[in-house]
Amino acid sequence: MHRPFKYIPSPIQQLHEHVAEIVGIWCDAAGAFSVDLIQDAVLKDLVGKIEVRKQKWQQVIADIHELFRQLTPAERKAIREGFIQNNRIEELCSKTADPVHYSDLPELVRQPLKDFFTELYTGVLNRKPFIDAYKTTTKDYFDKLIETSDLTICPFCGMNSLKSKYQDGRDAFDHFLPKGTYPFNAINFKNLAPICHECNSDEKLAKDPLFEGAEKTGRRLATFPVSNEVAAVTVSVQFELI
Ligand SMILES: [Zn+2]
Repeated sequence: MHRPFKYIPSPIQQLHEHVAEIVGIWCDAAGAFSVDLIQDAVLKDLVGKIEVRKQKWQQVIADIHELFRQLTPAERKAIREGFIQNNRIEELCSKTADPVHYSDLPELVRQPLKDFFTELYTGVLNRKPFIDAYKTTTKDYFDKLIETSDLTICPFCGMNSLKSKYQDGRDAFDHFLPKGTYPFNAINFKNLAPICHECNSDEKLAKDPLFEGAEKTGRRLATFPVSNEVAAVTVSVQFELI
């Protein structure tokens, strides 16, 4: 990645805040799940309206809640800390924090959490109840993001144009830290970078910027993809006849 993007405020980021509340409820799970455990009024409404895998999102959340009731206090504490740790994207990139992987999570909740976090992007963010609640779409956010960040070219390859607000559709968001590898940050917008179709389909895929090679032999420094100081680089070239 050769160009950072700016972190701009958007109501779309509320989904990450909602997920933080849900994880907190799970980690405190004592009795059975009830929507009354949810404090945020918008989230309380959304869980009953959004459907994931042909069931209410509320039911998905309740099922995972039941599993958390079986976890030990130490396991819950590790998950609570893992949520915080994996959302410290800048510190993970600079190696001042270490990430938690799905493989580090208790087996009982590993796959349900992977499904839950993977589906946030495809199954919640783009659903009508969420769009209606926050009056914004991923295209609105994408267009504003690349305009504010002065990005017309893909920040990964530096070659392909990104779709502008005047075109139908949009290019993709890359999960900089792959959502299949790292729990808890699938909907953190500091981890979602604009990327061209070719890079997203053929190049970046699920490559892990935090570890060396396919064998993941060691930690490495990664470029934090967010900067509100997007500097323009001017290159001047002078030719001399000799
Ligand atoms: Zn590209």
